[in-house]
Amino acid sequence: MIEIKTEKPVQVIDITQRVKDAVKESGVEKGICLVYTLHTTTGIVINEAESGLVQDLLRRISSLAPPGDGYFHDRIDDNAHAHLQAVLLGNSQTISIEEGSLMMGTWQRVLFLELDGPRRRNVILKIVPG
Ligand code: ZN
Repeated sequence: MIEIKTEKPVQVIDITQRVKDAVKESGVEKGICLVYTLHTTTGIVINEAESGLVQDLLRRISSLAPPGDGYFHDRIDDNAHAHLQAVLLGNSQTISIEEGSLMMGTWQRVLFLELDGPRRRNVILKIVPG
């Protein structure tokens, strides 16, 4: 489990090193690692963490599901846009483990997206040999 305390309404947090550390600690040499967020207004993506691209991602996801667009859910919770953005992003990633390490490309990072913060968040890691 990774605990994340987000600090902004919308925020991208690079959790790659924490996932890598958990894989090392597990001792699993070959298998898969599931990274799964337990929340309905967060996302998990694998992509580049370059600051301009992160801004582009947030801007685009906001334009696809902008706040206050007449959503039914806003009648009770006022955060329908964050749920919809989370659906578009997805809530998990599965990464192959080879020789005790995550198989990731040079520029690939595991990114946690807060879409309705700030809050305390939990991300499950399931490291499975095979
Ligand atoms: Zn809601």
